[in-house]
Amino acid sequence: MGRTNHTETITRLQTLCPGIGQTASDGEPLVTPLVQSTTFWRDGVGSGAEHQYSRVSNPTVAALEKALGDLEQALPATCFATGMAAETALFLALLKAGDHVICGSGVYGGTTRLIRQLLSDLGVEADFVDATRPEAIRAAVRTTTKLIFVETPSNPSLEITDIEAVAVIARESGALLAVDNTFLTPVLQQPLDLGADISVYSTTKFIEGHSVALGGALVTRDEAVDERIRFIRKCTGAIQNPLNAWLTLNGLRTLPLRVERQSRTAEAVAAWLATHPQIVKVNHPSLATGRAAAIADRQHVGLDGARHGAVVSFEIDGGLDAGRQFVEALELCTLVEHVGSVETLVTHPASMTHADVPADQRRATGISDGLLRLSVGLEPASAIIADLKKGLEAVAACETVRDVVHEEAAACA
Ligand code: PLP
Repeated sequence: MGRTNHTETITRLQTLCPGIGQTASDGEPLVTPLVQSTTFWRDGVGSGAEHQYSRVSNPTVAALEKALGDLEQALPATCFATGMAAETALFLALLKAGDHVICGSGVYGGTTRLIRQLLSDLGVEADFVDATRPEAIRAAVRTTTKLIFVETPSNPSLEITDIEAVAVIARESGALLAVDNTFLTPVLQQPLDLGADISVYSTTKFIEGHSVALGGALVTRDEAVDERIRFIRKCTGAIQNPLNAWLTLNGLRTLPLRVERQSRTAEAVAAWLATHPQIVKVNHPSLATGRAAAIADRQHVGLDGARHGAVVSFEIDGGLDAGRQFVEALELCTLVEHVGSVETLVTHPASMTHADVPADQRRATGISDGLLRLSVGLEPASAIIADLKKGLEAVAACETVRDVVHEEAAACA
């Protein structure tokens, strides 16, 4: 996708989002109404009413689905209670016993747990591979491979997968490609335009954006895939509740504004961390070099300086102990198991989001015990940096105390 198209995409989304979900006809409410009813009137037996029972479809959920589909010029999305419910439906829709899935090793820990600890019991075979190397994906393809699942940038190492290259492998192998686009959202990356078959979202994160509503969504342009996913949702009853759909729709109205601002601030924070002597490693696509930088530049939509998302991860000199002291000294950044809200959040992936990922897979994907993940919010970069400085000063102070204790112990010995 060229930069001219990027500009068109940005303008389209910036224009679409503020009034998204509106029906624009005389006397209709300006904002999509919240319809909590579990069931709907029927004129008679065999009524063809659009909505009949809210486990299958609901007007408020349908408004969100239309909106999410429009963001990617796709069919209306299928919305779920959570991101994990969406992923479960995706796997049940496309995989059966004996089928094979290739999953990027750098995906969200819950995705790894679902595949390793639940799908495997149902007879689905899986390989976890380094998705930054399309050749590794190609090498893992079997005749039974039905699905390739990647997350880019990866979580929490922010490594980049070349969606177009993996889409070619999927097509040649007769498999479908699903991309978890939770971190960048359709505002910063359009997986379907790059050849993916399904975009996967935890709308709980940036799309809703205010930490008030769980949700998940699958977006596709493929009618057969869409029909199968809706069938699974009807069978499992995993639809999003109308209140959460309504809150998510409201969050969408400011999505471009939020992710652009948060991404811009994240670039400034990442650049500051990268020059700090106490930081041994910083991950953010804006700091990528070589091939990864070229891919990110090509596939991330967005304005210069605000194209690579709001998630940054980093490691402090001193490992886990230093990380703990750092987090405890923060006042503005909040320790939670979450990303994508309007306030800046910090997470310790090894003990929180990725605790169920086997330690060797964690190490192989750059999740050391000392790695911290920052989800940059709407506060000014200067305020976030001042808080991070406070954390680093606390770590340095602890090191000084430790050095004195060691020296005194050595003198006494
Ligand atoms: N995908 C990604 C990238 C996530 O970060 C998460 C949750 O943190 C999920 C999927 C699962 O979403 P949910 O928590 O809404 O079930």
